[in-house]
Amino acid sequence: MGNADLIVCRDVALGYEGQEVLSHLNLRIGGGDYLCVVGDNGSGKSTLLRGLLGLLPPLAGEICRAPELESGAVGYLPQQTQAQRDFPATVEEVVLSGFLNRRGLRFFYTAAEKSQALMNLGKLGVLELRNQSYRRLSGGQQQRVLLARALCAASRLLILDEPVTGLDPAAAQDLYKTLNYLNRREGMAVVMVTHDLRPALRDAGTVLHIGRRGVFLGTPAEYLASPEGRRFREVAE
Ligand code: ADP
Repeated sequence: MGNADLIVCRDVALGYEGQEVLSHLNLRIGGGDYLCVVGDNGSGKSTLLRGLLGLLPPLAGEICRAPELESGAVGYLPQQTQAQRDFPATVEEVVLSGFLNRRGLRFFYTAAEKSQALMNLGKLGVLELRNQSYRRLSGGQQQRVLLARALCAASRLLILDEPVTGLDPAAAQDLYKTLNYLNRREGMAVVMVTHDLRPALRDAGTVLHIGRRGVFLGTPAEYLASPEGRRFREVAE
C-alpha cells in the first residue's frame, strides 16, 4: 500500500453467507480520486461500498485501509429510506450527529464541532435552514444536509450510494457540482454509486462497471469505448 493510497483491494471477493456477489476485484483508491461505480440493479454496487467501508469482511483477498480511515476520516451517505426522510430533528442536530463516531463517551458536542457543523452547512448553501425541522425540507435540501453531515465525519473520503435518487434534475446537478468542488478544490476523494452516467463521465477520474461477466475499470473515455460502456449508455440514455 503506497503513501497516497486510502483503500487497496487485492483479488477481493465479497458476498453473503459464502455466496460471492463480486470476485477477483483489484482496486486502488488514492487521495483526491473520484471513482464512479455503475452497473445493473443487483450487480453488487452497494455490496462493494459495504466492503470499502469495512462493514462486510471479504470472503477472499484483502482490503487494506489507510490508518487514518479507521479513525473516522470517511463520510458515508447511504441510500435514503422513508424513515430517514421523516427523521424528527432539526437540521443542525442532524449535521452534528455526523460527529457521533468520533465522540466516544462524551455526552456533548465541542464548540469546535459546532462551528464545523455550521461551516459545512454554509459550504453546502443551507446554513439558513439550520433551525428548521429536517423532515420538512425538500429532497434536494435533505441531501445537502446529509452531505454536510457526512463532511463532519470525512476529512479524506466521501462514499455515496445513489445520492441523487428522487431529486429533480436541477437539484441533482447542484449536488454533482458540490461534489466536484469538494473533490477538485478540497482534495476530497469521492466514491459514488450512480445510475446517472453523466456525472460519471464528466467528473470522475475512474469508472468501475460491475457486470454479470466481471468488472470493467478504466477512465471515462476507455469506458465509453468498451462493450460494457456502449451497452450501458444505450440503456441509460
Ligand atoms: P446493487 O447495489 O448493485 O443494486 P447489491 O449490492 O445491493 O446490488 O446486491 C447484490 C446482490 O447481493 C443481490 O443479488 C442481492 O440480492 C444480494 N444481497 C444484497 N444484500 C444482501 C444481504 N444483506 N444478504 C444477502 N444477500 C444480499
